[in-house]
Amino acid sequence: MDNKDLANLIFPDVKGVEYYEKVYSKRELPEGANVVRYAPSPTGFMHIGGIYQSLIAKVLAKQSNGVFYVRIEDTDQKREVENGVKQILDALEYYDVYPDETIGKGEYAPYLQSERKDIYQSYAKKLVEEGNAYPCFCTQEQLDEIRSNQEKAKERTGYYGKWTKCRSMPISMAIEKIKNGDPYIVRLKSPGNPDKKIKHKDVIKGNIDFPENDQDIVIIKSDGLPTYHFAHAVDDHLMGTTLVTRGDEWVASVPLHLQLFYILGFKAPKYAHTAALMKQEGEGKRKLSKRKDPEAAVSYYKEEGIPKDSVLEYLMNIANSNFEIWRKQNPTLSIYEFPFDLKKMGVSGALFDMVKMLDVSKGVISKYSAEEVYKFVYEWAEEFDGELKEMLENNKEYSLKVLGIERGNSKPRKDISKWSDVKNIIKYMYDEKFINEDINYEYQKISDKEIIKNIVKTYFDKYYDENDDKQTWFDKMKDLAESFGYAREVKEYKANPDNFPGHVGDISTVIRVAITGRCNTPDLYEILKVLGKESIQKRLQKI
Ligand code: GLU
Repeated sequence: MDNKDLANLIFPDVKGVEYYEKVYSKRELPEGANVVRYAPSPTGFMHIGGIYQSLIAKVLAKQSNGVFYVRIEDTDQKREVENGVKQILDALEYYDVYPDETIGKGEYAPYLQSERKDIYQSYAKKLVEEGNAYPCFCTQEQLDEIRSNQEKAKERTGYYGKWTKCRSMPISMAIEKIKNGDPYIVRLKSPGNPDKKIKHKDVIKGNIDFPENDQDIVIIKSDGLPTYHFAHAVDDHLMGTTLVTRGDEWVASVPLHLQLFYILGFKAPKYAHTAALMKQEGEGKRKLSKRKDPEAAVSYYKEEGIPKDSVLEYLMNIANSNFEIWRKQNPTLSIYEFPFDLKKMGVSGALFDMVKMLDVSKGVISKYSAEEVYKFVYEWAEEFDGELKEMLENNKEYSLKVLGIERGNSKPRKDISKWSDVKNIIKYMYDEKFINEDINYEYQKISDKEIIKNIVKTYFDKYYDENDDKQTWFDKMKDLAESFGYAREVKEYKANPDNFPGHVGDISTVIRVAITGRCNTPDLYEILKVLGKESIQKRLQKI
């Protein structure tokens, strides 16, 4: 009896690996094309890091005329949740980082690992035949005992070297046990020697030396499904992955992964381990956490109304710090045109900062047309804010004008960072909200009620004309200032501050606050144009 008999007993009905090697033939792609993948487990929580990974993978594939595919790693069925796969694919679709190949689309199917059981078994069988894998019958109690002995002896824990009970079990005995119905799993017979080093050249992290792996890891579990390590090696080989981009929590697995590729006779892909997204906390930094940070969840951005373009734009900023300069020089190009370079990625923690994200978002939103803003805000409001939805719906034409204020010019307004802020930002433009609102008018320099009333009345009766162009309007504002003894120009006031109670800006602030209830607004002339005479009159009468 030999390893072949053992392999046939463990895996009686599987096809030979030649079959799969033929079915999943080598990809025909241009020289230098990257085949990159995102390989999440469907755990029911979509971390923003998943969009980050997918974006990087998609850019790398697209820019090299390669392929970006998504493989769902669901072999740990205890961790799986219902709808987990759908959640992932929906999020990728929403963020426009949908892969070229995934479940339901692509020639290297299935892309769901639980449907590839036979494939993994075929390769595991080969390893058993070659004597590179073996059945292990250790019970949980025996494994616990090994561990406790290792701890007592202050040695590394795990199933390796002299601790491997079943590694040297005679084949006849293993066969007998299997025939007897004893439960077992299949382990790798690791050829590694931890006193020796393997050299790894990571695309991002550079050269790293690791001790060789000597752990006889489980490759096939008792349910017949593979472990992640084993499955991913088989899949990355068969699916033609050339470049693995993934979070640097996987760096420590590199020696094992390279060993698996070697034993299986596969060419290993290149690896690029990306630094984790970090959050500033006090002086230090920590990983963006699913438990502590709402912004770790992809769903957060949709709920807050942060546009996907803003999220992608910010993620690119984190990925390559020269993106920001490039964007300034190329304000209208797609992010896929940015010459992305893995080598320019940081090697340690990438700071994920919501303040910066919102700032980037202001820039992104400032480039949208009024129609686009209307559409996006409306879509957001439909789901999250009934009052805003009604405001927009009942006044569509008017809302387009409101949202169009200081938009579409060379210095567009940059006061909106997320759709959930829009209601507060534009509310005062709607008479039905403004007129009945109890406003605490915070005038600035001029605070005397009587003087304010007088300024406002004089303005409306003597100077306001809805047909005025901007220059005329502004000149009249100066006339108004002068009529109250205020300087027509700020410069004039600054030159002789004792000659005037103030300047034109103080007077226009009175008009601004009286009409909008705020001292900071976009351009007042544009606001007055949009509001129209009737509304202005009603507003000034409130004063
Ligand atoms: N399934 C692993 C995860 O959940 C993927 C690791 C890899 O990309 O190799 O992160």
